[in-house]
Amino acid sequence: MTHMIYPQTNLNATEQLIIERGEGAYVYDNQGKKYLEGMAGLWCTSLGYAHPELMATVNEQLARLSYSHMFGGKTHPQGMALADELAAMVPVEDAQVFFGNSGSDANDTQIKLLRYYFNAIGKPEKRKIITRQRAYHGVTVAAGALTSLPVNLQFFDAPEEALGILRTDHPHYFTGRQGDETEAQFVDRITANLEALILREGPDTIAAFIAEPVTGASGVIVPPAGYYDKVQAILNKYDILFWADEVITGFGRLGEDFGCNAMGIQKPDMMSFAKQLSSAYYPISAAVIRGDMKEAIVEQSGKVGAFGHGYTYSGHPVACATALKVLEIYKRDKLFDHAATLGAYLQTKLQQFADHPLVGEVRGKGMVAALEMVSNKITGEGFADGSLGAYAISRCQEHGLILRAVAGNSLAVCPPLIINESHVDEICSVLGKVLDETLDH
Ligand code: PLP
Repeated sequence: MTHMIYPQTNLNATEQLIIERGEGAYVYDNQGKKYLEGMAGLWCTSLGYAHPELMATVNEQLARLSYSHMFGGKTHPQGMALADELAAMVPVEDAQVFFGNSGSDANDTQIKLLRYYFNAIGKPEKRKIITRQRAYHGVTVAAGALTSLPVNLQFFDAPEEALGILRTDHPHYFTGRQGDETEAQFVDRITANLEALILREGPDTIAAFIAEPVTGASGVIVPPAGYYDKVQAILNKYDILFWADEVITGFGRLGEDFGCNAMGIQKPDMMSFAKQLSSAYYPISAAVIRGDMKEAIVEQSGKVGAFGHGYTYSGHPVACATALKVLEIYKRDKLFDHAATLGAYLQTKLQQFADHPLVGEVRGKGMVAALEMVSNKITGEGFADGSLGAYAISRCQEHGLILRAVAGNSLAVCPPLIINESHVDEICSVLGKVLDETLDH
């Protein structure tokens, strides 16, 4: 027992894996045992561990300027360069960037930016936000209210009403379909529900719709073809902004630069980033909005005295220098192309488990995937609790592979982008053994 209160953990658990060091795609525990990091930490260590250039970048920046802030007229070269670099990459019109420290705070920031913007343009009543069932957008009070996973909402009176949070269907055909409805019928039904919700609430009261292009924590849900086209058509019709939470899908994870591009989402109005923005070498997040939104906010800040939002570590110089180097490496090493090629290999290899008696669905895109374990392969009916997922993960660990059970019994796979085919083979070889062991359990 230590004095820690562990995050996202059953605190009754007595055993902990003590990870002491990492190199490349592997980490090592305090007994010296080696594990392939099949989850890139928490969907974030895209460039793996102990990357010499990143270690050098962090140290150089620490020596040059270990801290400076951006309040009240100060800035620094690394922050300015990173904002420009990011703005040039993202599909947001004339993108403008606000830096924070985590995916949760990026999403909190976006809520404030929305409020500020709609007040500035004289539409303060446009304040509600549509999120989806099973969404994960973080755990701070506001981002936690956008999240729809029950475990994150317990004993927490999420200020849904104050924030104007509305919930619509999640786009998972496998678990969300009704009867023998086809994928196209499923999409028609859930997008009709979305439109009905908008009309019921009043389009003039709704500011934005938030979505992870492909979800992570809720089980790596890849929406059916046509879903985002229909969603975007509805949002455009009612003048509602599309807010892409790219905290997991940003920077190559889906085999393209951004999840929006991989999923055919045209010109999102807002994007949230963290995790792979710095390959987790330093905490940093970014809330990105359209240029005209910033213009309105700038004008408003003049009227009220200041844009009253910002963290001590907004645009931390070491984080910005690190993220700049990470973006440079992504480009130089063509890692998004690599993620596309290797992602295709990963998805094909994982399909070998589709016939396994425990596996209801194998799904994924690019370098992220999940195997959903079910009690009934035909109906997709799941198990009463997530203990099977926890067991499978512990077996993976025994065999030297770190994966994560999400949404109960879905085994998520999200390795660093720097791996090669032999690592994918290693993941599949362990998964094969573990599925059999779990079936016999
Ligand atoms: N948004 C998404 C899609 C996430 O997956 C996460 C974390 O996993 C967050 C937001 C929250 O990020 P953080 O844990 O850095 O606060």
